[in-house]
Amino acid sequence: MKDAIGIVPGLAVILVGSRKDSQTYVRNKKACEAVGIQSFEVNLPEDSSEEEVIKHIASFNSDPSVHGILVELPLLRHMNDESILNAVGIEKDVDGFHPLNIGRLAMQGRDPFFVPCTPKGCMELLHRYGVEIKGKRAVVIGRSNIVGMPAALLLQKANATVSIVHSQTKNPEEITRQADIVIAAVGVANLVRGNWIKPGAAIIDVGINPVDDPESPRGYRLVGDVCYEEASKVAGAITPVPGGVGPMTIAMLLANTLESAKRIHNFK
Ligand code: NAD
Repeated sequence: MKDAIGIVPGLAVILVGSRKDSQTYVRNKKACEAVGIQSFEVNLPEDSSEEEVIKHIASFNSDPSVHGILVELPLLRHMNDESILNAVGIEKDVDGFHPLNIGRLAMQGRDPFFVPCTPKGCMELLHRYGVEIKGKRAVVIGRSNIVGMPAALLLQKANATVSIVHSQTKNPEEITRQADIVIAAVGVANLVRGNWIKPGAAIIDVGINPVDDPESPRGYRLVGDVCYEEASKVAGAITPVPGGVGPMTIAMLLANTLESAKRIHNFK
């Protein structure tokens, strides 16, 4: 793209009250550098007003060298998440959280401009490893706006029959045991045990949970929502934590930014 039309994709990040050394921020920035995406950033103090944040979003919306805008959530409590997400131009919403993008994701026969990065990464893993989705039973555990809900929408768009298990579900293990595909996005360490899994099922573990580990130099280690030791003996395929969905989320952010730059500049 750079050689052909002299343009490189650009990703703008707006951090509000979070530290510039935040792990997500540093990881994203390094990933952008590695693939040649130009980074832009605004670091706003904790007491910034909603109007100030929206002003910066508006300036990135009209900046032709920016193709993706990321607002680091969760924002501080005095701000309205929804009006901030609404301010991001739908064609630069590489996070895929704009209500119009989510709405289009939910509609049959419509496609959003962008699919949220973590669920998109889950689907990419299923496709790349040749897991059949059409006609299969899938269970998504968790129904958050950023992972569970869009993951369930994507699976049903790919023609799976989808159930959503959440905090109020009775007999979650019984429902999960029927699934050929499980996506777990809860935030509870080792919630999904080996006896929740149908033999041969494909398991995507989104959870990232710190658990005490005196042997680790940091005093803790990260585990998923799925008890890997048990589930890996029953499943046909399973993602590890760390190292499974996490890196895919970053890769999909880069992919969305590239896709956006190509669309904006009509570059095939
Ligand atoms: P969230 O807290 O917003 O949502 C959790 C969901 O789990 C809720 O819908 C809730 O109903 C459900 N839930 C809670 N307890 C439950 C239970 N006992 N049984 C079934 N469902 C239950 O969390 P989130 O933002 O969706 O994140 C979920 C996990 O995924 C966290 O560990 C988070 O760190 C991780 N995460 C990882 C990535 C990545 O890139 N790998 C990205 C986003 C989130």
